[in-house]
Amino acid sequence: MPRAVLVTGGAGYIGGHACKALARAGYLPVTLDDLSAGHEWAVKWGPLVRADVADRAALDAVFREHRPEGVLHFAARIEVGESMRDPGKYYGNNCVASLRLLEAMRDHGCRRIVFSSTCAVYGAPQRLPLTEDHPQWPVNTYGWSKFTVERMLEDFHRAHGIANLRLRYFNAAGADPDAELGEEHDPETHLIPLVLRAAAGRGVIKVFGRDYDTPDGTCLRDYIHVTDLARAHVSALNLLERGGSQALNLGVGEGFSVREVLDTAERVTGRSIPREDAPRREGDPAALLAEPTAARRALDWEPEYGLEDMIAHAWAWMNR
Ligand code: UDP
Repeated sequence: MPRAVLVTGGAGYIGGHACKALARAGYLPVTLDDLSAGHEWAVKWGPLVRADVADRAALDAVFREHRPEGVLHFAARIEVGESMRDPGKYYGNNCVASLRLLEAMRDHGCRRIVFSSTCAVYGAPQRLPLTEDHPQWPVNTYGWSKFTVERMLEDFHRAHGIANLRLRYFNAAGADPDAELGEEHDPETHLIPLVLRAAAGRGVIKVFGRDYDTPDGTCLRDYIHVTDLARAHVSALNLLERGGSQALNLGVGEGFSVREVLDTAERVTGRSIPREDAPRREGDPAALLAEPTAARRALDWEPEYGLEDMIAHAWAWMNR
């Protein structure tokens, strides 16, 4: 019998890739997802339980039936703009649901959780690259909701011995190299999928700000391939057998500007990509860059793919 792992949000973009990575490592991923943002077609490597994470009865049933030895917790609302307009949705879906999950873990004796956190917990960078001990003062409700769950995890570790790794993602991008999975957000707001839509003749890229204090004036981000992210979760789950409570940055440690992303996408796709200047987007820091060494050391993990691979895999997925 493969060892079960509960994956909340396993029908989503990063969660789906994590299910594939778990299955490859010999685990049975049990997805808990209400399909409000995820896709049933993305659940291919284990059973799907269609329920909200805040549904305690559904959680009890899953813990009783599958006896998962750990949890990968992806389910969350992820849109920064929406979080500012509708904070209740973010504190409800991200914080209250996480609390129900932690209580169920406590009551069922499940002692390992890997949490999908974000570099948004730091807020505006005071120095780069961002290290895990950088001061935290999020600049949006999304970031505060993830920050709050991180605190809850530390308290449940202290009081109930539930070990956690809080993985702070930088910019997840790309698609499964075998084109079995990819990004399908609605609405889509992320740069790389929008760039590829524009390459396919659907839309024009608005470059949000050309006057930033960066080498070419456009924003710099640390893009990390979703398959590399997914693999890091399996390492994290294994590492938690030793217990502990820790936050780790998951980035490559290399920054690319919006313009470099566009130029790379033109090269990879062989298409020209229409673009126009647009005002800065509210809340965008000029540059975000991970100091990635703590994660590399702790997880014994290295990103395998670069920006060209992310774009090539996402392009292949789009044209499958
Ligand atoms: N961006 C852009 N045009 C778009 C979407 C994004 O210029 O249509 C820029 C955005 O300002 C940011 C970078 O691309 O600097 C990455 O944005 P994305 O929304 O993908 O991720 P974020 O960094 O906001 O998490």
